[in-house]
Amino acid sequence: MIGLITGLIAGFQKLGRWLLAPFLWMRSMFLLKRTNALLIAENALLREENAALKAALLALKAELAQITERLDDRKRWEEYTTVRGGVVLRSKNADDPTRPVIYACINCSRAGGETILQHDRYRAWLVCKDHGKVGSDEPDRSAENMQKMMDRLGPERGPGGRMRR
Ligand SMILES: [Zn+2]
Repeated sequence: MIGLITGLIAGFQKLGRWLLAPFLWMRSMFLLKRTNALLIAENALLREENAALKAALLALKAELAQITERLDDRKRWEEYTTVRGGVVLRSKNADDPTRPVIYACINCSRAGGETILQHDRYRAWLVCKDHGKVGSDEPDRSAENMQKMMDRLGPERGPGGRMRR
């Protein structure tokens, strides 16, 4: 009797496993599919992150190149106060007589730009289109300034008076 019951239980267990097998298989398939979908989604996310990082790296490299260029550029210039008190940037080759001295606007440089200063007609002023003019190394020989100087000297001591002596 006991042997029969044990036999029956064993039989049902076998039958149960046999009936359950397809469901277990389907469950594994479902889990595998879900894992696969998650991996695909994760992969897409990683690819997006990677692309964003590459873009950020490129932007940083461009910025670094710009900063390096500006630093190199600043090395070409030195701060200089002209004879008439203008503060400008002057090319460092100022002592080399074979090369022309170039002046740049210090305010433009501080703002991240570069403006080469041009002498006005009498070479008395260095002119920036944005920041106005500063006195150059040369005296102001403009007609107005000459007149001002004459007025200051007075009528007796002007060039005419000197010539009479
Ligand atoms: Zn300027």
